[in-house]
Amino acid sequence: DERTKISFIEQRKSLPIYQFKDQLIQKVADSQILIVVGETGSGKTTQITQYLAESGYTERGMIGCTQPRRVAAVSVAKRVAEEFGCGVGDEVGYTIRFEDITSSKTVIKYMTDGTLLRECLLDFDLKNYSVIMLDEAHERTIHTDVLLGLLKTATSRRPDLKLIVTSATLDSEKFSQYFSSAPIFTIPGRTFPVDILYAEEPQRDYLDASILTVINIHLNEPPGDILLFLTGKEEIETACDLLSDEMKSHGPDIPNLIILPIYSTLPFELQNRIFEPIPKGSRKVVVATNIAETSLTIDEIYYVVDSGFVKQKVYNPNKGMNSLIVTPISQAQAKQRTGRAGRTGPGVCYRVYTQWSYNNEMFPMSVPEIQRTNMLETVLQLKSMGIDDLYYFDFMDKPSDDTLNDALEMLYFLDALDDEGNFTETGRQMAEFPIDPRLSKILLESVALECSEEALTVVSMLSVQDIFYRPKNKQALFDWKKANFDHIEGDHITLLAIYDKWCSNNCSADWCYENFINYRTLKQVQNIRKQLLGIMERQKLKLISCKGHIPLLQMALCTGYFRNVAQLYTNKHYTRLVDDTSAYIHPSSALRAESYYPEASWIIYHETVYTNKEYMRMTTAVDPIWLLEFAPKYFRFYVKPYRKRNK
Ligand code: ADP
Ligand code: MG
Repeated sequence: DERTKISFIEQRKSLPIYQFKDQLIQKVADSQILIVVGETGSGKTTQITQYLAESGYTERGMIGCTQPRRVAAVSVAKRVAEEFGCGVGDEVGYTIRFEDITSSKTVIKYMTDGTLLRECLLDFDLKNYSVIMLDEAHERTIHTDVLLGLLKTATSRRPDLKLIVTSATLDSEKFSQYFSSAPIFTIPGRTFPVDILYAEEPQRDYLDASILTVINIHLNEPPGDILLFLTGKEEIETACDLLSDEMKSHGPDIPNLIILPIYSTLPFELQNRIFEPIPKGSRKVVVATNIAETSLTIDEIYYVVDSGFVKQKVYNPNKGMNSLIVTPISQAQAKQRTGRAGRTGPGVCYRVYTQWSYNNEMFPMSVPEIQRTNMLETVLQLKSMGIDDLYYFDFMDKPSDDTLNDALEMLYFLDALDDEGNFTETGRQMAEFPIDPRLSKILLESVALECSEEALTVVSMLSVQDIFYRPKNKQALFDWKKANFDHIEGDHITLLAIYDKWCSNNCSADWCYENFINYRTLKQVQNIRKQLLGIMERQKLKLISCKGHIPLLQMALCTGYFRNVAQLYTNKHYTRLVDDTSAYIHPSSALRAESYYPEASWIIYHETVYTNKEYMRMTTAVDPIWLLEFAPKYFRFYVKPYRKRNK
């Protein structure tokens, strides 16, 4: 134990930031707002909070540090708790949505930027904190951008509140200007040169090309770990499988390659494996989303393989929704990725795209999230804080008027705003739930429709990902088991059936195992359900069961999903009402066997995903009369008169 303590001390002293500890603390003392710039891995996230604690800032309140990503908030809190020598949730803790691991002892609190935004809802001045560190501000998430505006006001009202905005190099001037020329503190990097190699010609399939590159490095290049950037979970899992097959096909004579995926929904124990030392003589390849770009630092990386792509949330105001789309990264992101190879020694970055496409097809900087996503939840929150004139809110980069109008309009349809645009009691109730406003609306309406018990389950189930797992060697059995759960009315009802079945099987892990369901995910649902129930009870919303009368639940769904409606046109082919475009039922949906349903029948869907074509995910059949009845404002004003199809 004494030995680990010493090794932590040694490790902390070896970080670039350590040399500047006193200077940094002095700067914080001298200026209320400070911009800190430093390379990834210099120690900003794990050290600054501890330095502040050592300097006595915790006597006046907590030190709060925000992260754009849940994974980073948790991982960093665990690491800092170890360094600090306490348990997670004692002096050092974290809060992410639906999970609060803090206590009255907590003085250093890591959290997602969304969490701090929610706390602002309850306390504008953030009186519990003496310092707020907005970390990874260069990521420019919508939550961080809104917090920048709110903290600008909070610091002017509270001269004792310190604000530190950290960024990985770029954009620091812009942050400084935004805060009336706040000083910039730069932690000099200790980086090694990185050679950049481009693809000679455009690659048809960046995934194949990336995998091939990794194998070539492993077979031909000197020792050193590899970091491969891809776009999302499924792609990463596929890449890991392909790499592992490829290694097997090369036989036992080649050195060992340890393949480690990392993405946000990977269970935490597995995530931590990327930090663990590996046996001598083997090489590690970490296959990551852009989470490894700046928010997690992995040491010993000598080779970076950059696919050149990222999955981004993009909002289409015409369609009124976000979709996740694989898009080229920006030049700034490419540079960040490259930099990951130069932390421990001179490295090499393989860009799986041409120099021409770097120069001509990539934007210099990424577009901030606030300018490309849906503002619905954010506008609801700002409205509930009494910030009425959003067009004049002090955003660092303003969202487009279209996006704002669209959010306001949708809030009006949801009854969160009245005819004059004033915030309503319904809006206030909705804002208390940390979920999509459409879903909180469904919860509220489900009480009068006498199905709130079921609606609560469905909404909780919608708040998690990866309910099923599909073992590679048992796919047929899996499909058969899963089909058993499929409910003819649709996926929302299937979710309800799964949860209820689990409860009637004593919430057992064995039952989950037998049915290829993630036990951990259902436990999480149970926890989320409990928390949402708490909010309902505070609002005196009664829990009433529809006792198997499923249409009541379908009606409740219409109160939130009225905009996500599609009509079966010819067999298998749906037309979305909102913009008259075609979409298809996602293969994972219980409604994929559309032949049950007569032509012209209607469905609602939770979201669309775009692969080779547009798919609607999470679909449930509805009666169009319910749509008219439960979303009259929307249908009165917005739906074009019915057109005759199929003449
Ligand atoms: P920055 O925020 O400047 O990018 P961090 O404070 O996150 O830097 O990380 C500093 C160093 O701490 C990293 O280089 C790494 O060596 C170590 N570190 C951070 N998190 C972990 C972890 N979960 N496990 C092991 N080491 C970690
Ligand atoms: Mg960091």
